[in-house]
Amino acid sequence: MACLIFGCAKSDGEHYERGEKIMGTLVTLKADGKNSRAAVDESFEKIFELVEKIKTDLKRLEDSAGKKEFVKISPEVFEMLSIAQKYSELTDGAFDVTIAPAVDVWKIAGKNKILPTDEEISAAKNLVDFRRLSLRESDGSAMLEKSGMRIDLGGIAKGYGADLARKIFAEKNIRDGLIDFGTSTIFAFGKKNIGIKNPRQKNELSEILEIENSAIATSGDYEKFFVLDGRRYHHIIDPKTCRPTENKIASVTILVSGNEKNCATAADILSTSIFVLGEERGRKILEQLPDAKIINLAHQSP
Ligand code: AMP
Ligand code: MG
Repeated sequence: MACLIFGCAKSDGEHYERGEKIMGTLVTLKADGKNSRAAVDESFEKIFELVEKIKTDLKRLEDSAGKKEFVKISPEVFEMLSIAQKYSELTDGAFDVTIAPAVDVWKIAGKNKILPTDEEISAAKNLVDFRRLSLRESDGSAMLEKSGMRIDLGGIAKGYGADLARKIFAEKNIRDGLIDFGTSTIFAFGKKNIGIKNPRQKNELSEILEIENSAIATSGDYEKFFVLDGRRYHHIIDPKTCRPTENKIASVTILVSGNEKNCATAADILSTSIFVLGEERGRKILEQLPDAKIINLAHQSP
């Protein structure tokens, strides 16, 4: 049963599903079992709340950047930033939530179809450094060291939202269900067949994978990009250069087993990270994470 209209809900016996436009994508939650409706509706409530908390907290952090004051933020955003920092260390800074100024430079370039100048890129680079984001566990507060620093949760928030829903589904004893953040981050309760998009053929799948009680996340250069003088400039930025990454990957899908506490968050972070790191360095990092693996990888054609 497809649910293609935003804000629509369908109920069929003990099956319930609902789709909402959130975080720029269609989020679809489906559940079977006697608590299906409560699991789906409560999850959406939490996800909508999360979106509001992100908006408020990031604005407050941005406004206080450089003032040397810690700002109290919601436990959810604090947890997201803590997990992000852990993976920034693990990936040697390939994943970096302080990437916002660089993301914006490239967004503006795409809009105006003019490449950014070296000065614009080095100005952004000056503001991108996860080590200058401090977190204070004792009161759940955070601080951005330099004025102009900003946070971008685009590489993690869908995964975190999926984990919030996953926890509610688990509390409600849902054993058969799907948490789908616009196909880029998914958690399957029970066995589900998931189509992986072909990065070069819109609306075509490159593979169908069966996953079970696991999260998967896909990062690709086909999601948001612009082409200038025959070159593709996409939305995943290498924090070291503050330019779109160039590592021959067109799309990578990571699976993280449900054994990992924050599996969807981890999958979301890792697909973005491995996109930045490239296949070889990415595989090296995954050796340290027994619950995570690459399940699909497409290279850019020469
Ligand atoms: P995803 O589609 O999950 O790979 O996330 C891509 C989004 O994450 C981008 O649209 C940016 O908002 C953000 N982003 C881009 N580069 C990075 C990076 N190196 N580290 C963390 N987030 C990033
Ligand atoms: Mg991601």
